[in-house]
Amino acid sequence: MTAYPIMLAPLDLGFTTLKNRVLMGSMHTGLEETGDWDRVAEFYADRARGGVSLMVTGGIGPNLEGSVLPGAAMMTTDKDVANHSIVTERVHEAGGKIAMQILHAGRYAYGPKCVAPSPVKSPISPFPPTELDEEGIEKQISDIVNAAVLAQKAGYDGVEIMGSEGYFLNQFLVAHTNKRSDRWGGTYENRMRLPIEVVRRTREAVGTEFIIIYRLSMIDLIPNGSTHDEVVQLAQEVEMAGATILNTGIGWHEARIPTIATSVPRAAFAWVTKKLMGKVSIPVITSNRINTPEVAEEVLSTGCADMVSLARPMLADADFVNKAVAGDAAKIAPCIACNQACLDHTFNGKLTTCLINPRACNETELVVTKAETPKSVAIVGAGPAGLSTAMTAAQRGHDVTLFDRAYEIGGQLNMAKQVPGKEEFWGLVDWYRTMISDLGIAVGLGREVGADDLTGFDEVVIATGVTPRDPQIPGQDRDNVLSYIDVLRHKAEVGQSVAVIGAGGIGFDVSEFLVEEGHSPTTDLPTWMKEWGVTDPAKHRSGLAPEGPQPEAPKRQVTLLQRKKQAHGKGLGKTTGWIHRATLKMKDVNFVGGVNYERIDDEGLHISFGEERADPTVIAADTIVLCSGQVSERSLADALIDRGITPHVIGGADVAAELDAKRAINQGTRLATAL
Ligand code: NAP
Ligand code: SF4
Repeated sequence: MTAYPIMLAPLDLGFTTLKNRVLMGSMHTGLEETGDWDRVAEFYADRARGGVSLMVTGGIGPNLEGSVLPGAAMMTTDKDVANHSIVTERVHEAGGKIAMQILHAGRYAYGPKCVAPSPVKSPISPFPPTELDEEGIEKQISDIVNAAVLAQKAGYDGVEIMGSEGYFLNQFLVAHTNKRSDRWGGTYENRMRLPIEVVRRTREAVGTEFIIIYRLSMIDLIPNGSTHDEVVQLAQEVEMAGATILNTGIGWHEARIPTIATSVPRAAFAWVTKKLMGKVSIPVITSNRINTPEVAEEVLSTGCADMVSLARPMLADADFVNKAVAGDAAKIAPCIACNQACLDHTFNGKLTTCLINPRACNETELVVTKAETPKSVAIVGAGPAGLSTAMTAAQRGHDVTLFDRAYEIGGQLNMAKQVPGKEEFWGLVDWYRTMISDLGIAVGLGREVGADDLTGFDEVVIATGVTPRDPQIPGQDRDNVLSYIDVLRHKAEVGQSVAVIGAGGIGFDVSEFLVEEGHSPTTDLPTWMKEWGVTDPAKHRSGLAPEGPQPEAPKRQVTLLQRKKQAHGKGLGKTTGWIHRATLKMKDVNFVGGVNYERIDDEGLHISFGEERADPTVIAADTIVLCSGQVSERSLADALIDRGITPHVIGGADVAAELDAKRAINQGTRLATAL
């Protein structure tokens, strides 16, 4: 008997059956744009082999003006059909099903040719859109329908018509972006004409036995977005127009409320989808922050939806469903919703991959094969770099021993998991523990190993990480000066007013830890909704609370300092930095930049500004926390080199600057494939 009877139950669509209730949601991976269709095919086939019932591709443009970027993948020609056929054939051979997402970006298209219902520029794009005339609208409809017809020709099992997240079809629905007075604007009946027309004509063109998923914005989270009644009305009309399935979209891209970041509670928006259940008769999918089979089953068993959509978790582990079927959920590599290697890459113009799983989107390039000659491998340091090396080396058949002076594996991940909003790191460390045991890796914890202990191994890997950088501030040896390790690991006592020195990732983490004092809105949905001003869309249009964000009072008064003059948090993740900044602003954290640290004494932290050391100021803090970066811990590596042993040095021990788990895991995994 499975622990996930509903998630693993088939879903009968009439003309075809999905083998379970897990959909892989659409992601812009950038793979299609590489032109390497073998690589694209392998990415999807790997997930099909992993047991997911239906996958949706990244957004494919129906024409030039609607594509997200100049050069983005489109479905407009016979050549496109031939390329996409490589993908569909490979997926079908692997026993999977796949739908192509048709994404018309409207005013979100990052190019001068973008079009929209009205010439209202988006706050997240520099390009003002051109208003479409009647003929222009007809062209967009026929291009979208044409893309669906070509997708069918290419062997896709269906299409997903992207109608949410503030893209083109969504822009017609909302008066803020649709100022028209013709039959495509004005009343809601007119504003929803376009999405309905697109679905109706697509159905006419593709016949009855082809999946049409319509991605519907269930809660816009922008001022003057749709009302809940409008959403329900549209859902019913879209069903009548011929959609097979309704998928959930949450929030426009320009919304200032986090919807998928790690600090968003798990399944935070499933209740929104639930409001549609029973109002339509086609299956409804819910999405956002569903990352374990347990959460998926809970969402389905409480009637929130008929199916769940998981996108990023399918990057972290292609075998998500198979492992759930086998009762091995503890072995599923968890998506921690960090965005660091997926969305941040996309927005930086890089190919998507995954922090936990560097093989994601690199299936044809990063191949883990059995080693020709098994070796004995010693790895010192059980942080992300050492753990990923150990796992991959063991998978290849090497005899691995992992040492750490700490009594637990995880290294800096154990500090990250203490930070409110980073609870997912607990699951990540648990997963490593499961895998280390499953792979039979010998572990020597609580042991400070020296060069003498490492002489008998074929290969030695040094992943000893980093130590805090000494900022050399006069007075820093006082009792009220702590390091981030004292605060996050040793839970040292911290006063009511705190100066945090250094506004990098760790300075932000420590500040969040101090203002929340153990209570995390991420594990308390009502508090989280109140903090961000999210409410029931049936009560307030668009799901925005009229009173706005109502954060709880900070538990401490924190000043976050840096020497740079630039805005705080510039170096944080592209798609998540704004959330960290907004969180600290809501907690009245005082951002002070461009400082010199003069000294620490009984009065507090003395600072001055600029090269001329002007405006001497005292920050009267009870406690000062040093988060001034890190330096490599290489002493063991150097001792080995002195002995004539050349170790492999990875992670923070290799380069401390801009170290993060993404680089550490990637480097460790790649090293292990070459041992
Ligand atoms: P970091 O990002 O390099 O930040 C170090 C901070 O210390 C900077 O604000 C720097 O700013 C300051 N600093 C550097 N030298 C100093 C000195 N001699 N005296 C005083 N201040 C000094 O390092 P981190 O915060 O330790 O983080 C380590 C790594 O973990 C980073 O790569 C980070 O991206 C990653 N991480 C990320 C997150 C996240 O994205 N949320 C969270 C945790 C960790 P000034 O030079 O301007 O003073
Ligand atoms: Fe999830 Fe982070 Fe991997 Fe993206 S990079 S899939 S958010 S774990």
